[in-house]
Amino acid sequence: MTDKLIRAIAADGGIRAVGVITTNLTEEARCRHQLSYVATAALGRTMASGLLLASSMKKEDSRVNIHVKGDGPLGTILADAGLDGTVRGYVQNPKVELPPNALGKLDVGRAVGSNGYLHVVRDVGYGQPYSSTVEIVSGEVGEDVANYLVTSEQTPSALLVGVFVGEMGVTAAGGILLQIMPKAATDQSLVTLLESRVSQLSSFTSLLREGKTLREMMDQVLGDLDLFVFPEHHEISFDCRCSFQRVLGALKMLGEAELQDMIEKDEGAEAICQFCGEVYQANETQLTQLIADLRAE
Ligand code: ZN
Repeated sequence: MTDKLIRAIAADGGIRAVGVITTNLTEEARCRHQLSYVATAALGRTMASGLLLASSMKKEDSRVNIHVKGDGPLGTILADAGLDGTVRGYVQNPKVELPPNALGKLDVGRAVGSNGYLHVVRDVGYGQPYSSTVEIVSGEVGEDVANYLVTSEQTPSALLVGVFVGEMGVTAAGGILLQIMPKAATDQSLVTLLESRVSQLSSFTSLLREGKTLREMMDQVLGDLDLFVFPEHHEISFDCRCSFQRVLGALKMLGEAELQDMIEKDEGAEAICQFCGEVYQANETQLTQLIADLRAE
């Protein structure tokens, strides 16, 4: 099954729903960064949340960055997602592994840490990006992002994200976001209803592993509330905007002395993109050209 995003509305336009399946892109992130199981789950949940948040933005090049800065051993987690369906991200300490929690599940909460901050930056495609910070609630990511939406963006929301990863790699990942639209935000009965419906759902990954589609999951939560699922499926993928040209641009900014030093000591330079793990090599000729460009400027 390919990764995708679908949208729906319900309750006379009062509820907006978005669902994503992110199995392949989470597996790609795991391979690119050689993530441990718990790091895969933490980054996978953050990337799914990013795609869900970005889906409500308007301008084509809008992006959302979610930084999770907990006091757990994984360190900072960052996901950068766009309305165009692209996402990338990394974990500061990708190799950290922890024993399962009391429920026998990956202990994402402890790996992320339950003290710290969730920082969200929305770049709406023009002007200053809008950013906001809330305290981490549990470190489980989904709960933290939902708390951010309610406290900082004041949008009554329910969010479910999950990643199932084992020896075969990532076999199920994704999430669902349900939000009360602004015009219905004061309708407390709708908010209570939404919360109760989502709490009835088992974990997102169990539903996915049972073979349920996004449409069936939405039907299970909102089926009796005039649910309308839009027929379009939007493709989503792990995608980084790094390129060799950008790496050369960054190397050039180091200046002539530093470049000369790289030529003499290493006969070239190696750069690794933090977001996607791609390795770029610049040889002596390319570095010499950068020095010539600097002199010509
Ligand atoms: Zn990259």
